[in-house]
Amino acid sequence: MKASQGILTVRGGMTSHAAVVARGMGTCCVSGCGDIAMDEENKKFTLAGKTYHEGDPISIDGSTGNIYDGIIPTVDATIAGEFGRIMAWADKYRKLKVRTNADTPTDAKKARELGAEGIGLCRTEHMFFAADRIAAFREMICSDTVEEREKALDKILPMQQSDFEKLYEALEGNPVTIRFLDPPLHEFVPTEEADIKALADAQGKSVETIKNIIASLHEFNPMMGHRGCRLAVTYPEIAKMQTRAVIRAAINVTKAHPDWNLVPEIMIPLVGDVKELKYVKDIVVAVADEEIKAAGSNMKYEVGTMIEIPRAALTADEIAKEAEFFCFGTNDLTQMTYGFSRDDAGKFLNAYYDKKIFENDPFAKLDQTGVGKLMEMSIKLGKATRPELHVGICGEHGGDPSSVAFCHKLGLTYVSCSPFRVPIARLAAAQAAIADEK
Ligand code: PEP
Ligand code: MG
Repeated sequence: MKASQGILTVRGGMTSHAAVVARGMGTCCVSGCGDIAMDEENKKFTLAGKTYHEGDPISIDGSTGNIYDGIIPTVDATIAGEFGRIMAWADKYRKLKVRTNADTPTDAKKARELGAEGIGLCRTEHMFFAADRIAAFREMICSDTVEEREKALDKILPMQQSDFEKLYEALEGNPVTIRFLDPPLHEFVPTEEADIKALADAQGKSVETIKNIIASLHEFNPMMGHRGCRLAVTYPEIAKMQTRAVIRAAINVTKAHPDWNLVPEIMIPLVGDVKELKYVKDIVVAVADEEIKAAGSNMKYEVGTMIEIPRAALTADEIAKEAEFFCFGTNDLTQMTYGFSRDDAGKFLNAYYDKKIFENDPFAKLDQTGVGKLMEMSIKLGKATRPELHVGICGEHGGDPSSVAFCHKLGLTYVSCSPFRVPIARLAAAQAAIADEK
């Protein structure tokens, strides 16, 4: 993906992880064009009656999902001139803060240029795609004792800490929410023989043992499987390492910039029951307090959660007893409210549009009637328990204008979206505020 100028896939949808990652990188992506007949072996595909061979040019529009024959010239987006003026007007009127979903210092810097006022979601697993990092991450996944896993985590800790330091630097004192590890672990295991052998050698295990571990990670429904806070419940040492990395990074950056007054925000994903959250939070608090004390610091920090499982929304009053903030993960909340797989819905949603069952992709435009009702309920229940609760959204809807307007109506503190959607979110938030006054 890193080498691509644009990405077009047959399978997937608006919120497949491929689309989410591409959006974060600022690479144009159309994910889930089911009309393509792919002939992988002969390196060609057919679409709308035309066959394209390797090397034939096409253009794609990631916002509309349109695919064009040939090359359409483009220019890089910058905020200057009249665009800059309109953005300044938008900032004058909007009530919603606009943060960004950014996982790397480069994305974070880009988002700052585009006006982001914080990071609403740093997907920490995305920090391990690089070739020089994936090895340690795979060792962590394929460990079969706590000691082994801790050894691998010791290699990962300095990498995470240094990334977090760079994120804090890039954000210049604005808030940064760091989400703990979320994805199903099998997404990261090697598939090529050479990589499996390298991992086996690094761990002093046989290729067969590694293959068995990989096979044991297989899940029939990984998006509803061993991911999110479930990883920290099974392997608390991961949460411990991530807490150390966040707190150490914030303490180091505070030494260089004492006026920034950093308050790290640690976000626990995929919580459905307050007891899960409490279990993980207790680990986070114990490690964070130990780190802060050892550094002789008085730094404050917050532990919050994503609201992305319907049960969390329904029990938000209980969840708020432990969570200091909520952030709606509307990608998963849409997936689990509708029961539509976010990776597969692209295949059948066209039939829904044709038959006028749906006007829009609910993964792109928030379903205000159903998912929106859960959000409204969560805010009401959450604030009844904890009136100072701050609430944001970091699903892809955070960059969609009609969904941003809805978030304004609900009284959210911020929306968070991928860097290149920040200007649209700023404008939509201002339009919503002005419409509200009228
Ligand atoms: C979400 O579910 O909306 C979310 C932001 O998390 P992810 O897309 O990483 O699952
Ligand atoms: Mg999610």
